[in-house]
Amino acid sequence: KEILLDVKNLKKYFPVRKGFFGRQTQYVKAVDDVSFFIKKGETLGLVGESGCGKSTTGRTLIRLYDPTDGEIIFNGKDIAKLSQKELKPYRKKIQMIFQDPYASLNSRMTVGDIIGEPLDIHGIASGKERLERIHELLNIVGLNPDHATRYPHEFSGGQRQRIGIARALAVEPEFIIADEPISALDVSIQAQVVNMLEDLQNDLGLTYLFIAHDLSMVRHISNRVGVMYLGKLVEIAESDELYEKPSHPYTQALLSAIPLPDPKAARENKRVILEGDVPSPLNPPSGCRFRTRCRYAMDKCAEIEPQLKEIAPGHCVACHLY
Ligand code: SF4
Ligand code: MG
Repeated sequence: KEILLDVKNLKKYFPVRKGFFGRQTQYVKAVDDVSFFIKKGETLGLVGESGCGKSTTGRTLIRLYDPTDGEIIFNGKDIAKLSQKELKPYRKKIQMIFQDPYASLNSRMTVGDIIGEPLDIHGIASGKERLERIHELLNIVGLNPDHATRYPHEFSGGQRQRIGIARALAVEPEFIIADEPISALDVSIQAQVVNMLEDLQNDLGLTYLFIAHDLSMVRHISNRVGVMYLGKLVEIAESDELYEKPSHPYTQALLSAIPLPDPKAARENKRVILEGDVPSPLNPPSGCRFRTRCRYAMDKCAEIEPQLKEIAPGHCVACHLY
């Protein structure tokens, strides 16, 4: 399969002023030299605890943030340094779905206008055609077209997320970044939304970056999964490979935090407990950033930063154990 998105050495640093009169500037290295690719029509899951840089990665890819450095090659073109004006054609092709379906919809707009807004911005449809498209989009996400005249507060969380998805689909994107799209929803609704996203992917040929804070949420939907820790990608592999042979100590810890349905498997599972808190991203540990919580940490882990290395076809790990 062709590569749709090729991210190379992406960095996003946020300045923080310190000291008297804010004279010193420190940087939070939210995304620090991250590289990965996504093939056309596939879903890459991106997982890590809050503050690991996964959302910042998503927002930088869609250019809500300007990258500090690196390349974002979309369909063969580097969009990392394009001006806002040059970005306009890409704004249609890349869309985002947000975690909080309450905060991300304008409460004073009707559902129809929320979904129709991107059609207006990009001059895609007006008048009767616009209305027909809005009704069609509501249909696609499993909502009644009559809902177009109603307001977001009249809907449940799951329905609001469907409205957000309809809005993202309005401009016929190729690539969707879904930032924890199901984390705020009831467990009973989560599977419905994930299944709908999968159906939409098959019907419309979409490519997804699916961001989540734990590995259980992405297993079903992802072809490949990447794991981030403190601004770094520490492991990436095909889904089955990652869940069967988690190799980075952090991935192992994340996986053993997932409750197992089968009690026998649960007993045999050597649980790795993740101890301590995530260190401050303002002052990350030297060498391997995970070393303060890693039970395998060696002397060299404090001195040398481990680089991503391919340990099996398509399976890369950044750890001195390999
Ligand atoms: Fe642990 Fe060292 Fe591997 Fe980091 S590089 S995960 S500290 S063993
Ligand atoms: Mg987030």
